[in-house]
Amino acid sequence: MDFKKYITDVPNFPKEGVVFKDITTLLNDPEAFKAVIDEMSQFVKEQGATAIVAPEARGFVFASAIAYVTGTKFVLVRKPGKLPRKTNEVEYTLEYGTSKLQMQQGDLTPNDKVVIVDDILATGGTIDAIIELIDKEHAEIVGIEFLADITELHDKELEKKYKVKSLINY
Ligand code: AMP
Repeated sequence: MDFKKYITDVPNFPKEGVVFKDITTLLNDPEAFKAVIDEMSQFVKEQGATAIVAPEARGFVFASAIAYVTGTKFVLVRKPGKLPRKTNEVEYTLEYGTSKLQMQQGDLTPNDKVVIVDDILATGGTIDAIIELIDKEHAEIVGIEFLADITELHDKELEKKYKVKSLINY
């Protein structure tokens, strides 16, 4: 299936100069969404993963369905103040300023084999922060997958260190 045609480019959102990749048109199409979940789940099975880790909010949309299909546990990465138990926290750099992400301690164990799931790989800042959170729990990262990858916005370091898959490449 040609997944690209289900993503809508929205110029100048959320600010001037950014082309926002709107995935809601994909979610609005049940057949396309199912095909995406099936293909992303296949990757998770091939890596022998025991856990899916994903950031809010659009990462959750895909990760929850993939965890259901593959029978793996689903661990949430969230912005500060959302997770109730003791968390680890990582601060990371955005284009303007910084942001923080948290994951609860003990949600992953050192025995876990993790696939990280998100909708879009842009600069890679978010994914680097998630890797740091997983490393703190000493779990193994066996793969990283995205619905779409905006190649010009990041370097090749991620692909050198990890098995990375994207269904769509821009
Ligand atoms: P980054 O940390 O730069 O790799 O950005 C990743 C996060 O920001 C992803 O979780 C995306 O949901 C979101 N994002 C970044 N750039 C875009 C874009 N052009 N269109 C849609 N979402 C984006």
